[in-house]
Amino acid sequence: RTGARVERLPLARFTTLGVGGEAEVWFVSTLEQLREAVEAPYRVLGGGSNLVVSDGGVPERVLRLTGQLAEADLTPDPELSTSDTVVTGWVGGGVPLPGLIRKLQKLGLSNLEGTVGIPAQVGGAVWMNAGTRYGEMFDGLHTLEIVTPGSVRHLTPDDLNWGYRQSDLPRGHVVSRVRLKLRHSTSEAVLAKMDFADLARKGQPKMKTPGCAFKNPGGVSAGKLIDEAGLKGARVGGAMIAPEHANFIVNLGGASSADVHALLGLIRERVGVPMELEYELWP
Ligand code: FAD
Repeated sequence: RTGARVERLPLARFTTLGVGGEAEVWFVSTLEQLREAVEAPYRVLGGGSNLVVSDGGVPERVLRLTGQLAEADLTPDPELSTSDTVVTGWVGGGVPLPGLIRKLQKLGLSNLEGTVGIPAQVGGAVWMNAGTRYGEMFDGLHTLEIVTPGSVRHLTPDDLNWGYRQSDLPRGHVVSRVRLKLRHSTSEAVLAKMDFADLARKGQPKMKTPGCAFKNPGGVSAGKLIDEAGLKGARVGGAMIAPEHANFIVNLGGASSADVHALLGLIRERVGVPMELEYELWP
C-alpha cells in the first residue's frame, strides 16, 4: 500500500451545507495514492459546495485530495508560455479555488477572475465547469490530468465537448491536477473585474448552504418562482429557504438531509413548473 490516511468521518464536516453522515474518507496526497484509492468503488469530494449528502452517509470510499494534490505551482512554464500567455506548472485538484483566484490576482494574471466567490476546489470546479456570467473554469485551462481505475491521462480542453456548467468528463473521472492558461494583465485590472463579479453575489445568504438549489427553468428565475409561491423563509426542522434569496436552502444549525429533502419536495409541489435540481445528492 502507498499509505493514504483512511478515517471514518462524518461528511457534514466537508460540505458547505454542514449535512451528511459517515463514510470512509481517503486522504490522498500523491498520484500513486490516488491510483490505489480508485481500485475500489469511490466518490470524489471537492469543496463539498454542491452536495446534499444523506444522513446515512455513503457506502463508497470518499476521496479527498490533499498534500501534493492540493498544491499550486504557478511558475510559468518557459517552453509553453509566450509574451502574453502564461502556462503554469501543475495545480492540484484539491486546491481551494478562492485562494487560487486571490493569488492569480496578486500576480496580475487574468482568465479565471470571473469565478470569484465560488467556494469549490479546483477539481470540482473543473469537473462541472463552474462559473458565472463573467467567466468559467474552462477559460483558463491548458491541460487536465485525469485519473480513472488503471489509467492516468493528459487531456486538453479541445479533447472534451465541454459547455455550460459541464466538462463532459464522466462521473468518477478524477481531475487530479491541471495546468492553467492565463493572460498577463495587472493586479489592479484583475481586482476590478473580481469586484464587479462579486457585486452580483450581494443578495446571497451568508449561512451554511450548497448554493442555488434549482436551475432556472427555460430562462425564468427559479428564485423568483419559489418566491412567488410564497416560500421565502419556509422551514423544515433545521433547514430554511433563505429569506434573502429563495433559490438558496440554508442550514440554521442541526439540519438533517431529510429536512433538506422535505424542503426541496415542498418547492417542487408548490412551484408546479418542473425544475431541474442543481445540487448533487449523495448517495
Ligand atoms: P463538490 O461539491 O465537492 O462535488 C461536486 C461534484 O464534483 C461531485 O460529483 C464530485 O464528485 C465532483 N468532484 C469534486 N472534485 C472532483 C475532482 N477533483 N475530480 C472530479 N470530480 C470532482 N457554482 C457555479 O458554477 N457558479 C457559482 O456562481 C456558484 N456559486 C456558489 C455560491 C455558493 C455560496 C455555494 C455554496 C456554491 C456555489 N456554486 C456555484 C456551486 C458549487 O460551488 C460548484 O458547483 C462547484 O463546482 C462545486 O465544486 P466542489 O469542489 O465544491 O465540488
